[in-house]
Amino acid sequence: MSSPEEVDRTVPWFPGATVLGYPRIGRNRELKRALEAFWAGRSEPDDLEAALESLRGANRRRLAFLGLTSDDAAVPQDFSVYDHVLDTAVMLGAIPERFADLLDDRGRLDRTGYFALARGHGDRAPLELTKWFDSNYHYLVPEVGPDTPLRLADDRVVREFLEAAADGATLRPVVLGPLSFLLLAKPVAGAPEGFHPLDRLDDVLPAYAELLGELSHLGAPWVQIDEPALVADTWDVPRGRVLAAFDRVLEELAERLARPARPALFLTTPYGDPGDALPRLAASHVEAVALDLVRGPLPDAGTLAALAGKVVVAGVVDGRNVWRTDLERALDLLTALSDGIGEGARVGVSTSCSLLHVPLDAGNERHLAPELRSWLAFADQKVEEVVLLARGLAEGREAVEEELEEAAEARRSRLAHSGVVRDDVREQVAASAREDLARAPYEERVAAQGEILDLPVLATTTIGSFPQTPELRRARAALRRGELDRAAYEDTVRGEIARVVRMQEELGLDVLVHGEPERNDMVQYFAEQLDGFVVTERGWVQSYGSRCTRPAILWGDVVRRRPMTLPWISYAASLTDRPVKGMLTGPVTMLAWSFVRDDLPVGEVAQQLALALRDEIADLQAAGIRIVQVDEPALREKLPLRRADRDGYLAWAVRAFRLATSAAEPATQIHTHLCYSEFGEILDAIDQMDADVTSIEAARSRMEILPQLRAAGFRRGIGPGVYDIHSPRVPSTEEIAGLLTAALDAVPAGQLWVNPDCGLKTRRYEETTAALANLVEAARTVRDSL
Ligand code: GLN
Ligand code: ZN
Repeated sequence: MSSPEEVDRTVPWFPGATVLGYPRIGRNRELKRALEAFWAGRSEPDDLEAALESLRGANRRRLAFLGLTSDDAAVPQDFSVYDHVLDTAVMLGAIPERFADLLDDRGRLDRTGYFALARGHGDRAPLELTKWFDSNYHYLVPEVGPDTPLRLADDRVVREFLEAAADGATLRPVVLGPLSFLLLAKPVAGAPEGFHPLDRLDDVLPAYAELLGELSHLGAPWVQIDEPALVADTWDVPRGRVLAAFDRVLEELAERLARPARPALFLTTPYGDPGDALPRLAASHVEAVALDLVRGPLPDAGTLAALAGKVVVAGVVDGRNVWRTDLERALDLLTALSDGIGEGARVGVSTSCSLLHVPLDAGNERHLAPELRSWLAFADQKVEEVVLLARGLAEGREAVEEELEEAAEARRSRLAHSGVVRDDVREQVAASAREDLARAPYEERVAAQGEILDLPVLATTTIGSFPQTPELRRARAALRRGELDRAAYEDTVRGEIARVVRMQEELGLDVLVHGEPERNDMVQYFAEQLDGFVVTERGWVQSYGSRCTRPAILWGDVVRRRPMTLPWISYAASLTDRPVKGMLTGPVTMLAWSFVRDDLPVGEVAQQLALALRDEIADLQAAGIRIVQVDEPALREKLPLRRADRDGYLAWAVRAFRLATSAAEPATQIHTHLCYSEFGEILDAIDQMDADVTSIEAARSRMEILPQLRAAGFRRGIGPGVYDIHSPRVPSTEEIAGLLTAALDAVPAGQLWVNPDCGLKTRRYEETTAALANLVEAARTVRDSL
């Protein structure tokens, strides 16, 4: 511990403008290219490292070009080769036992080892991949047990700091904080009952202290520590324990370790309001604090006064959406913040979170209508907004008057655009709000459906998609490039539908699907056909590792122009006597996987989407389709990070589902599919959705969910997935029959459906047909034994 006279209490200069993070994928997805070339053996380790270094350099220079000064820690050092949570695990040496042989004699992991953790190695499973807070980014879940080694085991942060320094740049290293790291981790398999990774807090703190010491030694003025875990109150440990752990972090890293033995600390809590953690932060010895003022409120007067000794970095530019900032409002907020802190306030301007969640540059979108493009701000535009706001704050509003006016004009044009508010849509939503959206009583529906569908107990079906063949992908790409005309493309799709229908008949499935061959993506396919959405050309964002997605942008009121799935489903139905299930993507999932307008409450947008689906369901029903599935795989992941917000969310989510499906006649069977098996928290919501049949993931958890469902009084049809589609493994008939028998312990046969865990689009036909043949066989065997 430093003696008082050594403690440096002067806070180094903090840049007026910064961002909490920047996309790592590169302007032309260079990260993906470099990684995939290496994995495919098309490049050498040195080529990979050179590509990564050049990507880091390009990002750095780009941010400097956009106005972040590169010699004073304004540019974040936040690169990751695959995932920043994995990086943290590797930095702390938290390598699961099953990978121990990949460590060198100094206990380090080389690139191959690193990728083994991310992607698996031989028959060793990779770390589990899961959603990062309420975003569509996925992180790798660290595994921490009572004996997991935890120490500073890797010098990546130091190396990358030095790499930039050699280029004349002083970066601000970004590390995931110890509290968030442990809360995001899961206990190793076989950890003793009651063990929580957070029990290891005192073991990770010295590693962080050591890292801070090294960085201080190298002359890093600032280090950014991200503690997003503080904005959620839904961890499996009580809030009191989280706060106590946070106190420990502040004590050990900010207070006991004082400057100059460490760099100045910039502590962030992105993705929301840190709530009762903020006063603790204000009272701590950290030198700078970030506030997410997009999702969180301006702190109260007392807290602001308590922040007076610190740099307060205001996240006023939204890192989660693609809209230009209301600069007037942002500047007002910055002024209010500065005034609230009072005399000597030091306020910096930033984004609400890392820009990792938005595409790189709206300037790359050459085919968007210019007006629409003028409403957008991707990562680069957001950096410019931050820089501009910092100038406005420093030099006064007059200094940026012209830019404010231009931004206000773009905003006005957006709000006045005829597609943004459509009276007919608003009227329909308002009218639907007065309906109670109840379908006929379930018993009545069961009877009506039973008569028409005439299905056996333990009816077999699939979740919708069949493998997307290379031929199909080629046809879609050729259509996009204009090398194949629409008629020829549609022939290809119809050919595939016919093949899939025949195959399902041969397999003996009871309820058939058309296989979704026409869909590039379950959201984009619909977005392309609905008014109010636009699809970008190059708006890629990282999903995980090398994988990127291109979310659609929902900018206006939603209107269905014409039937979206009807021709395909009807075609499939015309080929068989068995029931064909229509397949739609639900409102919550449409929203969750798109960038959504910020000028209308999201719950209301959901009702608009629901109305479009309602029309589609009506058309399907009129064409004689007796079963329609509305997928909501994103329902649970969109749960707010704070418990208090959950009921409000579930209320509109359930309402949207019911609005979409309540026009179904009693004889029309409504299915839904949810992509996960733990849904204790949304059990009531699922019940209220009132679908006739709900399929869920259950194979990996061995049907554990069923007793819970049963106990909650769930009486409708349930299809617990009987095999895991994430793996190419073909389950045996006995194995599936075993799971069905287990399921029958908890659920009466009349309620039970037989299906895989999820859609089959990522599988190959060989595996698919073999697995489905076993599924049908198992259902028959168990059915016969009843
Ligand atoms: N119907 C979709 C499919 O089968 C559902 C996908 C999902 O749940 N993510 O692919
Ligand atoms: Zn699924």
